[in-house]
This record gives sequence, structure tokens and C-alpha cells, in this order.
Amino acid sequence: MSIQVVVNGRKRPEDRVYRNTCNHCGSLLQFKASDGRFVDDSRDGDAIVVACPECSSEVWTAADAYQKAWTDADIAALTKRMGG
Ligand SMILES: [Zn+2]
Repeated sequence: MSIQVVVNGRKRPEDRVYRNTCNHCGSLLQFKASDGRFVDDSRDGDAIVVACPECSSEVWTAADAYQKAWTDADIAALTKRMGG
């Protein structure tokens, strides 16, 4: 019998999902750690840095601030609530 993944844990650091708002243009972004670069900062705390797809500004997010991923359905519901 081969090994089956019954439930995918998705706890590898590169699989962690983050959300943050771009300070420059206000876009709400969702991304994986592997979409950005990891900045090792012992003073201010480690960060994931991504380039905003809308305005190319750097968006810095604390590396330990990962969240549960929003599905396409979650995003559609949010967009509807915001009148989009
Ligand atoms: Zn932006």
C-alpha cells in the first residue's frame, strides 16, 4: 500500500498564506511565503516582502503573521459585501 495524504497539513513555511494591504495603493493582497522574499531581521522580526501587482511597491509582512487561506468563494463574498 502506498502512502496516502489523508489531510494536507500545509504547515511548511513556504506554504503559509499571508494577507496584507499595500500601503501605497491600498490593494488587499493574498500571497504565499514562496511568492515573496524572506528577510531575516533579528531586530524588527523576520518578514516576507512581496511586490504589489498593482503598483509594484514593496509590501512587508511579519513572517509569523500567516493566516488561513481565503478561497475564491471567500474572496467573492468579500467583494460583494464591499459592493465590487
Ligand atoms: Zn500597491
